Amino acid sequence: MTKSGTVAILPGDGIGPEVIEQAVRVIEHLNQHAGAGLVCEHAPVGGTAYDLHGHPLPAETLALAKRSDAILLGAVGGPKWESLPRELRPERALLALRSEMNLFANLRPAILFPELVAASTLKPEVVSGLDLMIVRELTGGIYFGKPRGIRTEADGTRTGFNTMVYNETEIRRIAEAAFQISRLRQRRVCSVEKANVLEVSELWREIVSDVGRGYPDVQLSHMYVDNASMQLIKAPKQFDVIVTSNLFGDILSDAASMLTGSIGMLPSASLDANQKGMYEPVHGSAPDIAGRNVANPLATILSVAMMLRSTFGRSDLATRIENAVRQALAIGHRTRDIAAAGDPVSGTNEMGDAVIAAL
Ligand code: NAD
Repeated sequence: MTKSGTVAILPGDGIGPEVIEQAVRVIEHLNQHAGAGLVCEHAPVGGTAYDLHGHPLPAETLALAKRSDAILLGAVGGPKWESLPRELRPERALLALRSEMNLFANLRPAILFPELVAASTLKPEVVSGLDLMIVRELTGGIYFGKPRGIRTEADGTRTGFNTMVYNETEIRRIAEAAFQISRLRQRRVCSVEKANVLEVSELWREIVSDVGRGYPDVQLSHMYVDNASMQLIKAPKQFDVIVTSNLFGDILSDAASMLTGSIGMLPSASLDANQKGMYEPVHGSAPDIAGRNVANPLATILSVAMMLRSTFGRSDLATRIENAVRQALAIGHRTRDIAAAGDPVSGTNEMGDAVIAAL
């Protein structure tokens, strides 16, 4: 096997290890049969890492993540670690990985597989064929802006405050990421902000427009976030790529993900400026179903496809994985979360088997 890249595998907690196991089987299959050339190395993260090393992101795990080309993460968290001090909770590992590695571009596709149209809460004609990508800025904006806090005024009332802040460089790099991605898709970018009210959005619109002039082949539009949330529910297929800030993206991407019916189907990527990235399913560690071979591994398997396309430039292999997932669904495999009443139900391992057989 020719080595073409390294992947840090961080299974994490709850269903994380179960879904990662199936994704690693897919990688190994592609190594053996398609010359993928990916070298995987495992390390603990989250609550599991805390139990082993007293910290949710041990130094060795961070070092492995930094020296690898890509990270594949399962999920972190669970009731066992909820009473730990905030800085030792499993979720801190995710925030630390994102900021330590400058993973500023969060990509969340919302794709509805034809076989799962009935799983959406929206009418089939509104969602069938849905394929949109939300590009969310991940390391700036109001979640990080200063000043922030809760102060007590002279009269004793308390005031909470946060700061929504973006500089030109931050806006430019996320806009560049969105335009680049749109070139792999339908070449349409919709920038979402609130420029009628917020100065930070005014600057956002100006810089995105400026970046857009460098991409004459891509159609750029602008939309206020309140309208965008309405349009996502009313006519989601009008969108190709949505680029937006941290707060707006957080909310819109959750709304978009539910258009597809199940959280168990949704992959995500968080990228730096050099296409190095962390790939993970959108869902959490699902402690309610952990260890029972019922978790849907497809979000994690589809995260491997995103990794091959974005970090390793192997769109051919990414498409093979996506087609294999489609085929597994087409011949009737359903984990419990996507099964309709009366459908036979496949377990986590069986779904992995079905994808590998289709590959
Ligand atoms: P969750 O996503 O873990 O679960 C929500 C619901 O969806 C549950 O009913 C669960 O059984 C179901 N579900 C999730 N993934 C599934 C899958 N692959 N197949 C089938 N069903 C699936 O969210 P939650 O319950 O709010 O959080 C549980 C823990 O996960 C918490 O500790 C939370 O902090 C953590 N969390 C971690 C991440 C992450 O690691 N990126 C993200 C969200 C939540």
